[in-house]
Amino acid sequence: MTSPCIYLDNAATTRMSSAAIQAMLPYMDTVYGNPSSLHSMGQRAGEALSDARRTIAALLGCDASEIIFTSGGSEADNQAILSAARWGEKRRKKHIVSTAFEHHAVLHVLKKLKKEGFEVTLLDVHENGIVQPQQVAEAIRPDTCLVTVMYANNEIGTIQPISEIGRICREKGVLFHSDAVQAVGHLPIHVHEQQIDMLSLSAHKFHGPKGVGALVVRKGVPLIPLIEGGSQERSRRAGTENLPAIMGMAAALTEACEGMEAVNARMQAQRDRMIAGLANIPHAALNGDAYDRLPGNVNFCFEGIEGESLLLLLDDRGICASSGSACTSGSLDPSHVLLAIGRPHEIAHGSLRLTLSRDTTDEEIEDTIRAVRDVVAHLRGMSPVWRDMEAGREPFILR
Ligand SMILES: *Cc1c(COP(=O)(O)O)cnc(C)c1O
Repeated sequence: MTSPCIYLDNAATTRMSSAAIQAMLPYMDTVYGNPSSLHSMGQRAGEALSDARRTIAALLGCDASEIIFTSGGSEADNQAILSAARWGEKRRKKHIVSTAFEHHAVLHVLKKLKKEGFEVTLLDVHENGIVQPQQVAEAIRPDTCLVTVMYANNEIGTIQPISEIGRICREKGVLFHSDAVQAVGHLPIHVHEQQIDMLSLSAHKFHGPKGVGALVVRKGVPLIPLIEGGSQERSRRAGTENLPAIMGMAAALTEACEGMEAVNARMQAQRDRMIAGLANIPHAALNGDAYDRLPGNVNFCFEGIEGESLLLLLDDRGICASSGSACTSGSLDPSHVLLAIGRPHEIAHGSLRLTLSRDTTDEEIEDTIRAVRDVVAHLRGMSPVWRDMEAGREPFILR
C-alpha cells in the first residue's frame, strides 16, 4: 500500500518497516506464551526476549543486563530522572542540571521535582541550539545528583556534545542521563564509550512499533521501578513484557543501524537541498545549527505566518508536516524550544518542521519546496501584519 501523502513528520513517528512487522507476527500468533512461563511455549518466548535484549545491547554498546524494556521514551525518561532524584535525596544531593529545550517527558518531571524542593538548573542552548560542555562543567555543584541532556533535539534536530558531557559527569562523579529518542537508529551510539549512565530510546522513532522503548542503565546505577508487581526486568519494571513489540524494535534497530551510513548520506543531501530551497524565501530563517543537526531535520521560521495555517494548507496539498512538537501543536503556546534558542514569540509561532526518512524521495523534496513557497506567499498575501511590514509600518525581525 503506498501512502497518498508526502510524509515529512518522521520526528513525530515513523512508518513501521516490513522487517519489523514480520518480526512481530510469530509472537502474536504461534509463540504467544508468557516469557515467564515454565512450559516450552513460555521458554521459546523467553529465549526470543533474551535474543532481542542481546541484539539491542550489542547495537548500543552496552551489556544485555543493562537494558530495561519500557512502554516508550516517556516512561524511560521518567524512570531515569526519578531514580536519580530518589538516590540523590538520600544523600542530600537535590540539584539537577538539564537544558531549556528538553522534551516535555523530561521537563515536566523536573518541574514536579522542583515542587518537591529540588533545585533545577536549565542551561541555555544558545542561538544554534547546542549546549557547550563547559556550561555543564560550570553548572555542576557538590550537591548535583544528575545531569540530563538530550542527544538530539526533536524540534530543531541539533546534536549535543554527548561524549564530552559524559566525560565531565564521570570525572565529577555525577549521574548522566540522555534522552536519545531522536538519535537511536539515526546516529552511531556507544553507551559505554560515551560514558552515558542512562539512555532513553523509543522504537516508533526508528521504524519500529509504538508503545515500546527501553532505558539503558549502566550496572550499579540505582534504579527504582515506576510500576510495581512481578519480577520482570529484574524487578525494575513489572508487567508481562510486550514481546511482539520488543521483537519488532530489535528488528527495526538492526535494520536502522545496518543501513545508517548510506541512509544518512542520502538524507543529508536531501535535507541540505530542502534547506537551500526554503532559505530562498524572503524573511525566513533556519532554526538550529546548519551542520550539527540530524540528517533528516529541517526547521524554519517564516515571518508573518501562523504555523498552524501553514500546516493546514500544506496538508491540503498532501504534505504531512509539523509546527513545533506534536504535543504543543494544537495549543497556541509558542514552542519552548524556539524560545530557548532566542526566537521572539511572534516568530516562534510561525515555525515549520519537516523531518525526512529513508523513504523520502528527491521528487518529494522538490514538490515540498514548491508547495511551501506557494503557501507562504499565499498566507502573506492575506495578512494585514505582513502588509504593514512590507509598507515599512512594522519592522521585520528576520533579516
Ligand atoms: C518522541 C520523543 C519522546 C517520547 O517518546 P514516546 O515513546 O513517544 O513516549 C521523548 N523524547 C524525545 C526527544 C522524543 O522525540
